[in-house]
Amino acid sequence: EIRTRYAPSPTGHLHIGGARTALFNYLFAKHHGGSFIVRIEDTDQTRNVENADEEQMTNLKWLGITWEEGTDIGGAYGPYRQMERLDIYRKYIDQLLAEGKAYYCYATKEELDAEREEQIARGETPRILEKHRHVTPEQREQYEQEGRIPSIHFKVPDDQQLVVNDLIRGQVTFDTKEMGDFVICRPDGIPTYNFAVVIDDYLMKISHVFRGEEHLSNTPRQLMIYQAFGWEPPEFGHLALILNQEGKKMSKRDESIIQFIEQYRELGFLPDAIVNFLVLLGWSPGGEEEIFDLAELIKLFSVERISKSPAVFDSTKMNWMNNFYIKRQSVELITEMCIPHLLKAGFIEESLTDEKYNWVKSIVALYQEQMSYCAQIVPLAALFFLDEVVYDEEARGVLKEPQLPEVLASFSKHLEAAAEYNTDTIKAILKDVQKETGHKGKALFMPIRVAATGQAHGRDLAETLYLLGQQTVIDRVKRVLT
Ligand code: GLU
Repeated sequence: EIRTRYAPSPTGHLHIGGARTALFNYLFAKHHGGSFIVRIEDTDQTRNVENADEEQMTNLKWLGITWEEGTDIGGAYGPYRQMERLDIYRKYIDQLLAEGKAYYCYATKEELDAEREEQIARGETPRILEKHRHVTPEQREQYEQEGRIPSIHFKVPDDQQLVVNDLIRGQVTFDTKEMGDFVICRPDGIPTYNFAVVIDDYLMKISHVFRGEEHLSNTPRQLMIYQAFGWEPPEFGHLALILNQEGKKMSKRDESIIQFIEQYRELGFLPDAIVNFLVLLGWSPGGEEEIFDLAELIKLFSVERISKSPAVFDSTKMNWMNNFYIKRQSVELITEMCIPHLLKAGFIEESLTDEKYNWVKSIVALYQEQMSYCAQIVPLAALFFLDEVVYDEEARGVLKEPQLPEVLASFSKHLEAAAEYNTDTIKAILKDVQKETGHKGKALFMPIRVAATGQAHGRDLAETLYLLGQQTVIDRVKRVLT
């Protein structure tokens, strides 16, 4: 059976890199009719952030990624939170100790750090030295009297070639010569990632592991632990990095990119658009088509088409993609997504009358094609909600045009006389003003648009004037004239 997992450490929000990893594991499992599991890797307690695991899972679900087993729903191989599995790890650590494949090391963290510094100063690759393997019974007693608590190290065999047959990168060979032993259990009795991950992937019968390239160097260590137990390792596929637009490795502090799924959600991105965008960070189906929903992706997904070279995160494309999805949605749904932003801006109240709701919906409809994400409704539609008209630079130029007073005076007169106010009557008025003043085209429309909206360009003029309302337009035109 194909079983994959996403195994986040609960150190923060769901990152785009993490979401991509989860997505690839999910798609691979679903493509093969297998299971996808979420496991929480929280043994590095200094890095844990409260509620980060729940928040990550909430955002995964929001993206449409679901799992068969996990901390929230349990499953046959639980518990799925590593800190609840300490007894299980202990048993396997004891086995390695008994077989002489691991040993207690009494060196303090400070001592090991100092050694490390010296090695770096000598230009060597830092590693834990073999001397720590050997402790005489006398030394041990001495250390224990000093109150030292040992950590447990894995004994790395000398001169071994470890071959990772990576599903994406092909054969990668590691030499253990320079590697040095590594910590599998800290003095507080809690195992390290490299150890716990092996025990869990084995016991949870994980068949395939897709994870970020930053873990490739961990893989030989994990393979040695599999060997030590005589277990068959899963297949590994290491996903190439995601780079920023300058071609540099993305750092979590990089502000040129919005990096967390939560932020996209807050800005009013659509989950389907994000999934579609994420899958193309390192996978392509071949061919021109770029728009896929989750069901299609499950059908199409294949390891062969995962790229070895880094993906570049292009925010322009993300915006383009989301705009594409926004345009396909019903105006009702987009209105629902815009309302929280309009509320936050103080443009509307909590409970809308039907009339007011329909008005808001018409405004959203006016901008639906333009929006990359729903938060943009606030700047785009501000002119409908704010009393004060803010004239943009080009608009200020239009205010100085010689024909403006004449056009606006005529427009204002007809507007005040209009008994009915809708896009048809507005269009009729515009014709009347044209006849009366002899101005047409831009010379006619620009002064009116600028007076009513403060902007030289915008959406359909008659519709905009209609949604602004008769009195507002009259007031704004008069304000320019006086
Ligand atoms: N807990 C690890 C991380 O968050 C997972 C690594 C793995 O998938 O093995 O990076």
